[in-house]
Amino acid sequence: MTLTEPSAPTAVPRATSFRTLRMSGVTKRFSTGTVALDGIDLEIGPGDFVSVVGPSGCGKSTLLRLASGLDTVSSGVLTVSSRSTSYVFQEATLLEWRTALKNVELTGELRKVDAGHRRRLAREALELVGLTGFENQYPRELSGGMRMRVSIARALVTEPDLALFDEPFGALDEITRLRMQTELQRIFRLKQFAGLFITHSVSEAVYLANRVIVMSGRPGRIVADIRIPWAYPRPAELRYDPEFAALTGEVSAALGEHS
Ligand code: ADP
Repeated sequence: MTLTEPSAPTAVPRATSFRTLRMSGVTKRFSTGTVALDGIDLEIGPGDFVSVVGPSGCGKSTLLRLASGLDTVSSGVLTVSSRSTSYVFQEATLLEWRTALKNVELTGELRKVDAGHRRRLAREALELVGLTGFENQYPRELSGGMRMRVSIARALVTEPDLALFDEPFGALDEITRLRMQTELQRIFRLKQFAGLFITHSVSEAVYLANRVIVMSGRPGRIVADIRIPWAYPRPAELRYDPEFAALTGEVSAALGEHS
């Protein structure tokens, strides 16, 4: 894991046609008869950070489960060209009896990575999320934001090329949430994985993503795909920019029309 930060702001690379995730006409029908997703066309490549917003029950989590391989499509084509995919849940889901470092090391342990190497990677991942000095703390000794940082470190320690986020900041207080957004887009700028991020917050969606996908009520269909133009890193003050307000307005309007 390299931790050197380039000095100049990095634009999202657009030159490649390679796509980490491709969905073409994807439909998901559960055995109960519920059609959760209908005709989803979505392509995400390295350096894409795509936020997904939509009403509750429109199939956002189902979309993520399909992308992660935890579930299979009913029809259509889904291709994931990823060496490593990581998943960050709404809850930090840490093991309470293991320190922060040991929680991050767990993935390496399960993959039988040599102890010295996996410890070094875990330390680097904790440094990446700003937790140097907290390696030996237990989850109960950490704040909610810090626990989520450990969870993100655990997800990124594998150097994923596809990172899936299921509303990871939904349970955090507003100030911590804004700070975590700033942190995540800083990390994204460094790592340039393909990101798929589910959220209920329109401003979070716009602040983090280079594209915001808006879904309709069930069965979930993509009703808008809105490009967010700013390069990373994005300053916190971007949220007060009139253009930011215009884009959140556009996303909210699309949501309102199709809920
Ligand atoms: P969201 O994340 O947008 O709230 P979900 O993807 O969790 O929506 O669910 C979409 C729809 O599919 C909902 O109506 C939900 O009840 C249904 N659903 C989700 N998982 C299953 C399942 N395993 N079996 C049957 N229905 C399911």
